[in-house]
Order: sequence, then structure tokens, then C-alpha cells
Amino acid sequence: MALYVWQMCLWKVVIIFTLTEAVSLHLDQPKVLLVSFDGFRWDYIHRVPTPHFKYIMENGIHVNQVTNIFITKTYPNHYTLVTGLYAENHGIVANEMYDQNLNKTFSLDGMDIFDPVWWDEADPLWVTNQIQGHKTGAVMWPGTDVQIHGLYPTHYMIYNISVPFEDRLAQLIDWFRGKEPVNFGLLYWEEPDRSGHDLGPENPLMDKVIADIDLKLGYLVEQLQKAGLWDTINLIVTSDHGMAQCSINRIIELDLYVDRELYTWIDFTPVSAILPKKGKYDEVYNALVNAHPNMTVYKKEDIPDRFHYKHNVRIQPIIAVADEGWTINQNKTAGKFTLGNHGYDNTIKSMHPIFIAHGPAFKKNFTKENMAIVDLYPLLCHILGIDPMPNNGTLKNVQELLVAEKVIITENLHVEIVSQDEINSRGSYAWLGILLGSVLVTGFLLAFVQQVTKSQMSGLNIHRGEMAQPLLST
Ligand SMILES: [Zn+2]
Repeated sequence: MALYVWQMCLWKVVIIFTLTEAVSLHLDQPKVLLVSFDGFRWDYIHRVPTPHFKYIMENGIHVNQVTNIFITKTYPNHYTLVTGLYAENHGIVANEMYDQNLNKTFSLDGMDIFDPVWWDEADPLWVTNQIQGHKTGAVMWPGTDVQIHGLYPTHYMIYNISVPFEDRLAQLIDWFRGKEPVNFGLLYWEEPDRSGHDLGPENPLMDKVIADIDLKLGYLVEQLQKAGLWDTINLIVTSDHGMAQCSINRIIELDLYVDRELYTWIDFTPVSAILPKKGKYDEVYNALVNAHPNMTVYKKEDIPDRFHYKHNVRIQPIIAVADEGWTINQNKTAGKFTLGNHGYDNTIKSMHPIFIAHGPAFKKNFTKENMAIVDLYPLLCHILGIDPMPNNGTLKNVQELLVAEKVIITENLHVEIVSQDEINSRGSYAWLGILLGSVLVTGFLLAFVQQVTKSQMSGLNIHRGEMAQPLLST
């Protein structure tokens, strides 16, 4: 009888421990906060003192050159950050689009960006995160206020440019600390993109804008510390693109070369997406192909493979790509001109974004020279413990950013790969788990041997209690 009672107690202990540990693991689930400062060029941190960026670099990681995707525009790159897909694969191929199959237009100036049909070609990480049982909090990240595959983020803020950075952050922190906390947060801020467009990146007035972003980053770190999240959260600060200096003296006027009645101008500058009117394809292409030395014109099928920008109906039959710092307009008064712009070839350095990170998953004071932005998605999935959707990234390319990993046996006797920091933070529970797990196995063994022994000795009619001591002593 004593063995039976002992086994029942053991079961209760194991069940209680497992439930407790399950709750504990839920609370300790890896956390990621992904922050985008729109248009923060990779080298902005070097032109004015940016002590808060430096603090994260010294205590975390920094990637010097991040190759984003073509075209280097806001919506395509923000969707790549959370899908790991090139534009031709995720379907957000520009900020201004036309889909001839749908006969629909996507424009940042219109409400059509909320139509899920534009976004449903991919599964953004917040959707996958939620399908796999977690919760997401999103603050104004492009696409997070759209119902994609039938889902919104668990918590999100409708896009409203007038909401201050501090309020956006406070909301996110609340979600990370809620009763059912999010494991994945996304935070978007419009600067320094807006000032970069208006002033041009070479304008000395940009120094103040960059210094202000640094202060905002410092505020973010301080608030995470106050909230008790700083030691456990994996913070990634990046952007969608950089910014190039433009000039009123570098404008390419399409009207000089081709009649605007022959085509529809779907997207504008510095990558013009051109849809020729019926029967006018050759005429338009021939008029533009050698029109200007600073504009390269491609038939869709001839777009270089390295752009990964061909296989989607939303990419127009002809695209014209301006050289760095050049603007394509129909004439000097038709179309937009800004002193700073982006969208150019993604191998141009001025198009590259900042990339720094800090947290238990990341090494300290580690610099990596290059990475492709499509590799961020598998990295995010790895840190969060999410099974990734098919993507164009490769975890192996960026794994060196992470602290060394070791294989340990968890409390449930499953083999799990965790980081050294995680081992440090979970260590006592893990070893307690191993101990209790071992006791559990021993319990099973005891019960099994007892059953076998009992069946073999059934004819002897020995009381269960009498078998207990000899078996326990073995
Ligand atoms: Zn942008």
C-alpha cells in the first residue's frame, strides 16, 4: 500500500509541477519588440552623437550593411521585414500599385490599402504567431490595421500620425505586461523619413532630427527598464530604407520622350511603373529605352534577377529606374519632387537601413558586416519559437548574431535548444525539472516492475505492501 500511496503523491507532485511550469514558461516566453524608424539610413548614427544607439550596439549587436529589397519603398520593405519574402512573392510590390486581374488600385492616398486582397499573398509574422497560440501587439506598422487571412493583430492601433511616440510606446508596454501578454510587438515611427524627404539627407537640419530619434530610443530603453522588461525583451531597431539626396537639377521628364496619352503612370519615382495603352507597348518602350542616360528602362521579363522583381501581376510591363538622386516626373510641374527620396536600386548604400539589436537572444558588442533583410524573418521566428512560413531568408546567414546555443533537457524531458542566457535565467527550474522528470521515469519503472513481479507471483498471493520495500530498495 505504501508504494501505491507514494506513487499517487509523486503523480500529484509531477502534475502540479508541470502545470506550474507550463504557466511559468508561458510568462517566460521569448519576447521580441521590432521597431522601425522609417527612413533611418544606416550611417545616420555616425553624423551626430547618438549615445543611445551606441549603448545598444555596445551591449548588443550591430549589422553595418543591410541589403533591403527592391524597390526600396516603405510598404514593400515593411512587409518583407515580417514575411522574409521579396516583393514579387509577398505582393506589396510598391506604394502605388495596379492589379489587372483584380482591376484594383492600391495607393497610399486612398482607403484601398485596407483591402485584404493586397496583403493575402503572404502570411505576416503576427498572423502566424497568433495561429501558433501567441499574442501580438502592433502600433501602426504598415499592414497591421488590415484584416489579413481573416486576422488582425491581437492588439493594434489604427494608423494615426498624430499619436506621439511616447503614447505608442506606452500602449505597447501595457500589452507586454498584460494578463495575457504579447510575445511579439511592432512599433512604427514616421521619422526621420518625413524630414528626410522634406529637407534632403544632406541638409544640416537633419542632424537635429537624428538626435531626436536617438532621444526617443533612449526613452524607449528607459521605459522598458522601468517596466521590468529590459532584461527579457529582445529589442530590434531597424528601418525600411535609407534616403538619397535629390536635386531640382536632376529631373527626368517623361513628357520629353513619350506622349502621356500612350500609357498609364501607375507608380512614379524613382521607379516608374508604366502600363502602356492597348497596342502601344512597343511604341512606349522604344521611346523610353534610351531616352535618358540616368534612367534604365526594363521590359518586365528583362528585369534583373537580382531584384527579385518580376513574377507578379502587380509589376507593370515596363519599369524605368532612375539613378541615385534622380527624380522621374512627367514634366517639371507634374508629379512629386522631394529633396530626399528612396526606392532606388537596393545595392546602393544610401538605400540601406540601420540594424541594431539587444536582448537575451543576442550577443554583446558584436558587429556583423552584411546581411540581407529577408534573413530577419527566420531569425524572428527562431527567437520566438515559431514555425516559419515559406520565405526567402536563411537563418544560418544570421545565426552568428545570437548567443551560443546549447542543447538541454527540459522539465518535460524534451530536448530543446536554448540560448546560454536562457539557460542562465531558467537554469534552476530546468535542473529541478530534470530531477523530477527522472523521478517520474523511476516511478514508471517501479510500477512496471511491480506489475511484472505481481503477475509472475500471482499464485503466491503476496500483499502489495509486502512487495514495496524490496522493490524500493533496488
Ligand atoms: Zn519608409
